[in-house]
Amino acid sequence: MKHIRNFSIIAHIDHGKSTLSDRLIQATDIVSDRDFKDQILDSMDIERERGITIKSQTVCLPYRAKTGQHYSLNLIDTPGHVDFSYEVSRALASCEGALLLIDASQGVEAQTLANMYLAMEHDLEIIPIINKIDLPSADVERVKAQIEEDLGLDPDTAILASAKEGIGIEEVLEGAVNLLPPPEGDPDAPLKALIFDSHYDPFRGTIVHFRVIDGKIRAGDTIRFMFNNATYRVEEVGIFRIVRVPRKELTAGEVGYMIAGIKTVSDTRCGDTVTLHSHPCDAPMSGFKETKPVVFSSIYPVASDAYEELAVAMEKLKLNDAALIYEKDSSVALGFGFRCGFLGLLHLEVVQERLEREYDLSLILTAPSVQYEITLNDGTTEIIDNPALYPDPTLIQNTREPYIRAAIIVPDRYMGAVMKLCLERRGINKNYQYLTNNRLEMIFEIPLAEVVYDFYDRLKSVTQGYGSFDYDIIDYRDTDLVKLDILINGDRVDALSQLVHRERSVMRGRRACEKLKEEIPRQMFKIAIQGAIGGKIISRATVSPFRKDVTAKCYGGDISRKRKLLEKQKKGKKRMKMVGQVEIPQSAFLSVLKSE
Ligand code: GDP
Ligand code: MG
Repeated sequence: MKHIRNFSIIAHIDHGKSTLSDRLIQATDIVSDRDFKDQILDSMDIERERGITIKSQTVCLPYRAKTGQHYSLNLIDTPGHVDFSYEVSRALASCEGALLLIDASQGVEAQTLANMYLAMEHDLEIIPIINKIDLPSADVERVKAQIEEDLGLDPDTAILASAKEGIGIEEVLEGAVNLLPPPEGDPDAPLKALIFDSHYDPFRGTIVHFRVIDGKIRAGDTIRFMFNNATYRVEEVGIFRIVRVPRKELTAGEVGYMIAGIKTVSDTRCGDTVTLHSHPCDAPMSGFKETKPVVFSSIYPVASDAYEELAVAMEKLKLNDAALIYEKDSSVALGFGFRCGFLGLLHLEVVQERLEREYDLSLILTAPSVQYEITLNDGTTEIIDNPALYPDPTLIQNTREPYIRAAIIVPDRYMGAVMKLCLERRGINKNYQYLTNNRLEMIFEIPLAEVVYDFYDRLKSVTQGYGSFDYDIIDYRDTDLVKLDILINGDRVDALSQLVHRERSVMRGRRACEKLKEEIPRQMFKIAIQGAIGGKIISRATVSPFRKDVTAKCYGGDISRKRKLLEKQKKGKKRMKMVGQVEIPQSAFLSVLKSE
């Protein structure tokens, strides 16, 4: 145990976490240079393209220190997005230390701070690393000042590095060995192991990633998950060397995987404690929490006959994504589909992209919604996340919606712009404080419904990219909701309905009509778009038909020519859905939520 170090790299997005991980892996020679792909830990395509880490990947690095002593360095990767902060906390609970990476030209950002607080909650030893010192815009002195003032860490301990140029890599490895504490724990105590991740392997089933806190685990053991008391027989344990390397046993302080005939990742819980069935530990690890989806949307195939394919794809995706929940749903306009729950909008986008890419489906997603608590006159309370299930308003006594605490960090020149944006979104400014002489942290309480769609994009745009944002759900508060319906040529399209705050309903109704007018292409006839609340029309827009000179030839009933012309119009814009007589493009369904 003396020669094990368990640590994570934590950083604001783009500060170089993946690049540094790659360098550490290369430096310890576990993959040949020939096999080395950049950003080896970001294994999913989408992650690679977007440069974000969604699924964490852990790797055990053998390292021979300058003293000649051999060490096992377990680098536990954490997801890099607010949607996955619970997974981050469980990964950190498996570590004794953290490398806090800061971009030398950007300095400390919102996510740097949020991550550092998380690391401190877990009593981790923190080593600051100033990365990208090769950049001409690097300002090491400024970042050191921030490390002292904003983070309260000793700037003299900071390691200067360039992950890209391979500078400072040995210092980082030596720092891990010399500055981070070894794990503690009793190898002779009953087994206590913390699950921090799991993934699905088509040949072996669920691969559970865990840290042994106390005791030992080996193949043949019967283990128990303390969350639901499910028992399994361990088939294999081992460590991650990019590939899985089986071991006879894993003991206190070690990090690795197990395979135990577990069918889907949903049978495991991130944060759960594993113990021995015959000889259990007294109590599970503290801090266990079940993650719950916060954003809901329905997914429909564009081609109605692709429902079965979608069903198969959802089932497969679910094997690997415990956070995704879904149930069958149907819409008058769109046919059969699934109502899904996601951890956040990024999670929603990832699921959509994977379904479209890996399963070759073309999909329509309806406007995302949060969950509302609705108390009816008869005293019963319902949780509603689907506008289609919104009860008759005369039966409703009271409605509550989720609020978040948003922490936004910006240079102070954007204070006014951020204030305006948040107030427009029904936010309440609770507090602000200077972190340095021109960096401001602003705290708002905002309804979650107001941030689910394009808040982050808007924040980035009003702050010219400098704003960063982090949030937690805090509570549910009374609200005044109405259901905004959209009628196309007089027919209500259920998949375009949304639940909105009464004060903002007229504005939202107008925007939705304007957006739909932009999205829906001209057709042979006039298309009336209307926004309605209850029976009352509150907004309208019209898509005029093709101009006479385009379609004149068609009048008079030359059906085949008419069809040809339509066919031509269709080219280049697949993903159209016929709703009644009208073709609506895929993008229109999400556009109703756009704020500008
Ligand atoms: P992550 O989001 O924290 O995982 O960041 P990445 O490792 O994906 O890096 C973000 C971007 O910064 C990429 O374009 C990297 O090539 C670049 N980058 C990472 N480290 C360095 C560095 O030391 N110097 C320079 N100039 N660029 C770097
Ligand atoms: Mg990354």
